Amino acid sequence: AKSAGGNRFELSDPEADARVITRHGLTNALPSALERGEFFIEYQPLVHLVDGSVHGAEALVRWCHPQYGVLGPDRFIPLAERTGLIVPLGRWVLEEAVRQARYWSRRHSDGGPLRINVNLSPAQLKHPALVADTVEVLERSGLEPGALCLEVTESALIGADEDLLKPLRQLADMGVDIALDDFGTGYSNLANLRRLPVSVLKLDRSFTQGMQQHPCDPVDLKIVEGIVSLAHSLELAVTVEGVETGAQAERLRELGCDTAQGWYYARPGSPDRIHALVLADAV
Ligand code: C2E
Ligand code: CA
Ligand code: CA
Ligand code: CA
Repeated sequence: AKSAGGNRFELSDPEADARVITRHGLTNALPSALERGEFFIEYQPLVHLVDGSVHGAEALVRWCHPQYGVLGPDRFIPLAERTGLIVPLGRWVLEEAVRQARYWSRRHSDGGPLRINVNLSPAQLKHPALVADTVEVLERSGLEPGALCLEVTESALIGADEDLLKPLRQLADMGVDIALDDFGTGYSNLANLRRLPVSVLKLDRSFTQGMQQHPCDPVDLKIVEGIVSLAHSLELAVTVEGVETGAQAERLRELGCDTAQGWYYARPGSPDRIHALVLADAV
């Protein structure tokens, strides 16, 4: 904090000042927040574009801070990455989300298992216990490995060597799906895709936004069309993020995308909401 005085910086950007204070405060509070159980998970459905039925849900972590209220992951995941807390936090998210998915699948055994998508940060990817931890979490919950999808960002895998890919390959061999998140933002070599143990491409929201204009950008259309056909020729499924309108959904369906996620279907919410959506599907 600054002392009172005629300093012009004091007037110029109080928000930036608050951000700095907040950042230090948040970093210090992170480890105990996990112990105190201040984190919780919201789930956002993934739906099949063809018929709108629920395919699964993505787990998105939030922090219920005693002072600042609910904070989104963009506020604290980068801090958790830097301090290493992301490893225990990520493990907690995995455990909690897998437990929740197992609960859903018990209740809806007829429709096949609901898939659960969990984000993996680069630090988790590099952690030597990733495979063992994941196996343990799955075994303890009884969820079949095929119902779990781990999302890794494209940028985390750019230039990845075999050491980094090996744990993902092991998980993929067990039947866990690996999704390439934020695809299209990382400038990765498309030919490289063949080398990665991924089974799903998650097209970044920026592409979906390009579908919003009327008429939409023909170049955007061509790019998405190209990505979808390449993905399908490599036997990868395509999920699109950030679908906010019915028109977008329709266009993305026409382009051959498989599943979608976005406010048009549902905002991230409580596990009960997913439950209710799946029940509504079943009738
Ligand atoms: P992401 O993995 O790309 O997740 C999608 C983000 O898009 C989520 O933001 C979601 O709420 C938002 N979103 C969904 N539908 C729409 C839509 O129609 N329009 C718009 N404008 N946004 C939409 P959120 O929950 O704030 O998460 C932000 C990022 O934080 C995630 O991006 C992910 O990278 C990271 N994150 C969240 N949970 C975890 C976690 O448990 N572990 C790790 N390592 N990262 C996480
Ligand atoms: Ca994600
Ligand atoms: Ca994403
Ligand atoms: Ca993103």
